[in-house]
Amino acid sequence: MEIKGRVIKSTGSWYEVETEEGRLQARLRGKFKQDELKLTNPLSVGDYVLLAKEENQESAVISTILPRENYIIRKSTRKQKFSHILASNIDQAFLVVTLSQPKTSLGFIDRFIVSTESFRIPTTLVVNKMDLLTKEKDMDLLEDLRDIYEPLGYPVIEVSAMEDEGLKERLLPLLVGKTTLLSGHSGVGKSTLLNRVVPSATQSTKEVSKFTSKGVHTTTFAEMFDLPGGGFLIDTPGIKEFGILDIEDVELSHYFVEMRKYLGQCKYNNCKHVNEPGCKVLEVLEEGYIHPYRYDSYVRIMNEEDTFR
Ligand code: GDP
Ligand code: ZN
Repeated sequence: MEIKGRVIKSTGSWYEVETEEGRLQARLRGKFKQDELKLTNPLSVGDYVLLAKEENQESAVISTILPRENYIIRKSTRKQKFSHILASNIDQAFLVVTLSQPKTSLGFIDRFIVSTESFRIPTTLVVNKMDLLTKEKDMDLLEDLRDIYEPLGYPVIEVSAMEDEGLKERLLPLLVGKTTLLSGHSGVGKSTLLNRVVPSATQSTKEVSKFTSKGVHTTTFAEMFDLPGGGFLIDTPGIKEFGILDIEDVELSHYFVEMRKYLGQCKYNNCKHVNEPGCKVLEVLEEGYIHPYRYDSYVRIMNEEDTFR
């Protein structure tokens, strides 16, 4: 008899699946059909699957992947035909940022948001290392961050992972019952935070494996962690690991929420909103309805040949 489960860990050949009957080690049924995405891995953490226990009852075989609500993929280069799926069925993304040691750039945040917007995943900014912010000028930075992102629908929450501040009161309630992607530049304290929030998460949260297409690639598999109170945290590597490569120039503005509502109003329908005459986006930028920092990020992403860098 088949039961439903959710993949919470993947090594590329074996999958740990959470089911009503507990955690099962499972593999894919042979001759599994790859879908049109041309994935190097057919299955990722977050996938809901149908599986059946084998006769010995110790392992199970996955027969079906249920339709994904969303997923994040990774590609190595523009030309590479194959994608690697990192995680699926994600409710929200939390980007850990810092205002000092190191300071996360707004450009980095905006690129992350373009990715999550393109995958239709709501995003929250978690400002960590709040304990380091003592000077007034740091507080101004925090205010800037709020002023830029909160009106756009990206909440900003303050925590200190090291001092265990804001985690239980502010962070955890937002995570309960949901599947949350946790990301951030290295050094921002993502591991510290993860270890505080998920006591079961040990030092190594990543599994590195090799996959073979042309040449040798190393792939980092994401892992899902159970949250106390229900829900999962998915630890992902930094933004470089899941990209915005497939976004065409004219499409980019769709992932800037503040531009979206003006898009039908430019003179040219293939307007890139850079220097075209009759551009509505440039007009409202001039009028102050789009934050100059955000527009600056937009132009920079537009001009990057390979948005991975
Ligand atoms: P990761 O690379 O994002 O996983 O960052 P780590 O969790 O390894 O943390 C990087 C450094 O920042 C370590 O030295 C941590 O002790 C420190 N750190 C993490 N969280 C905080 C915090 O809230 N406040 C301060 N002052 N340091 C922190
Ligand atoms: Zn325009």
